[in-house]
Amino acid sequence: MKYLLLTLFGVVLWWSLRYWRRRGAAGGRVEDRGAGEAMVACSHCGVHVPLSDMVRDARGLPYCGEAHRSLGPAAGDKG
Ligand SMILES: [Zn+2]
Repeated sequence: MKYLLLTLFGVVLWWSLRYWRRRGAAGGRVEDRGAGEAMVACSHCGVHVPLSDMVRDARGLPYCGEAHRSLGPAAGDKG
């Protein structure tokens, strides 16, 4: 009986870990750099996007999506 409870506990733990990982990947507001995926700022609008959602242009600049990649870096760039 003890093993049944241990197995059940293990399954619940595994399932909840999987749930939280999926929730984070699905686009939740994850701003904690330590726990989540690395974030990069879009060169056009400055929005932070996860590395896996990021799009790069020919120069290697990061963008939040295809739309902003085609628009290019923000005008009036400081520096
Ligand atoms: Zn953008």
